[in-house]
Amino acid sequence: MRSLPYFCRGQVVRGFGRGSKELGIPTANFPESVVDNLPADISTGIYYGWARVDNGDIHKMVMSIGWNPYYKNTKKSMETHVIHKFKEDFYGQTLSVAMVGYIRPERGFESLDELIAAIHSDIEEAKMKLDLPEHLKLKEHHFFKTAVLTTPNQILNGHRL
Ligand code: ADP
Ligand code: MG
Repeated sequence: MRSLPYFCRGQVVRGFGRGSKELGIPTANFPESVVDNLPADISTGIYYGWARVDNGDIHKMVMSIGWNPYYKNTKKSMETHVIHKFKEDFYGQTLSVAMVGYIRPERGFESLDELIAAIHSDIEEAKMKLDLPEHLKLKEHHFFKTAVLTTPNQILNGHRL
């Protein structure tokens, strides 16, 4: 996808309690302002990349960009599952992500088990792809160095930051 990598940053807000955490796959939601700033060339679907909460470590992530049923599919949402076990929730903290690759478009599922299996396979693909040298080097990108402390609560969207 021509428009990748894509970088964005925003404060984690509450989602719609679809029980992602109960499935063992919590997804941190970006605020509307970040979603509304997405350029048209970032299509819906599943992405992989790097994520950082506040000034913590940089972890692998998978992200779903899709139409939110809660808003009768009129509102896009961006939900990031960070591939890391956190001790605590991080609502209100700043999430910085670099989207580096596209896995697949959105799709429907016959059952919850099928959905969970698909997410696990997305996670495995993300883990593998992110070990490629061209993707690993994005952890060193300037975006992650301009630490959150220098841009408190700032929302950032862009291809080149
Ligand atoms: P919500 O509907 O509020 O998004 P979720 O069940 O999807 O609820 O849980 C998401 C929240 O879980 C995140 O906002 C974050 O605070 C917390 N969380 C803990 N571990 C992770 C993780 N590995 N990836 C994403 N969010 C996590
Ligand atoms: Mg969520």
